[in-house]
Amino acid sequence: MPIAAQLDLFEISPAPVPKPKRTRRIHSSVPDAPATTIPTALLRLADWILLNSSGGKDSQAMASHVCALAAKLGLLHRVVIVHSDLGDIEWTDTRKLAEEQARLLGVRFEVVKAEGGDLLARTVARFFTLKAKAEREAREQGTDPGTVKIAPAWPSSAARWCTSDLKRGPIRKLMTRLVAELGDLGRPARLLNCLGQRAAESAPRAKLAAVEIDRPASNGRRHITTWRPIHGWTDAEVWKEIARSGLPYHEAYDWGLSRLSCSFCVLGCEADAVLAARLRPQKAAQYIAVEKKVGADFKNGLSMRTIVERAKALDAEHGELRRPPRGTALSRYVGKKATRRYLARVDHTRLGLAA
Ligand code: SF4
Repeated sequence: MPIAAQLDLFEISPAPVPKPKRTRRIHSSVPDAPATTIPTALLRLADWILLNSSGGKDSQAMASHVCALAAKLGLLHRVVIVHSDLGDIEWTDTRKLAEEQARLLGVRFEVVKAEGGDLLARTVARFFTLKAKAEREAREQGTDPGTVKIAPAWPSSAARWCTSDLKRGPIRKLMTRLVAELGDLGRPARLLNCLGQRAAESAPRAKLAAVEIDRPASNGRRHITTWRPIHGWTDAEVWKEIARSGLPYHEAYDWGLSRLSCSFCVLGCEADAVLAARLRPQKAAQYIAVEKKVGADFKNGLSMRTIVERAKALDAEHGELRRPPRGTALSRYVGKKATRRYLARVDHTRLGLAA
């Protein structure tokens, strides 16, 4: 659906009344701490090994690394790669790439998608919900509803609803389905949920444990252990794993992007946003339309309008971006010779699959 139609749809929808918050009780069978942190033991214990793939380099390296370990243990049949389809806000062909990687690794592939619109449509819907709430509270307090301050509708590091609504929620539904497939085990199913998060990405990620029990996602029927198999890896180790695996990576990295997933990430760096605006000017224009609608910048302190101005200035100074040679990103870490070998392997495999 075109963005204008999506925005109108949400504008005329009555804003839902927020439900009172419930305190969630954790089932008594759910352990506080993982039984082990040893990779091979984690894999052996799991009924399902779920690999979360955004299609980005970290989840790709995590997936090929875990699949190599699982293959040695004869456990590939328990591995499922899941991709959350974010629609047109993620880089083109990300879903297709995640599926290709799963096929090459010889494991099951699942796609999940949140209902209720993409990040832009949700931001607009959230704005009207927050506005209605603020106005209702003002009326209850006898103040002027026309002067209320509305909480930010865009996701942010403090309110990262994009990840919970668009990724975590739909993946939990898949977990329910996978557990149902196991039938009655006479005990809670054990699901090993693998993420490509790394300490080197940010200070908050550095604080995450490599292995922990996901207590909120666990219940009497399933115990979820979160495993971050490449938590301690450097960028160089990630790229070396990509070269080793011979799996194709997303071309956005060759253009110079440092991260994948949404083309414009509310938490990403400015350089990535400007580069994305040069590569996807029409998508950037949609973000500007939403900024106008909700009266707030998409990133805290940095509007898409400014990003687009910077992108245009770079286009004016250097001309339109020219496609960089394939393998540009990889060759920075493994050198030109190894990159040529990698590209030959990727092409050979793709040709073999097409034949
Ligand atoms: S990539 Fe950024 S904007 Fe997109 S879902 Fe993840 S945190 Fe949110």
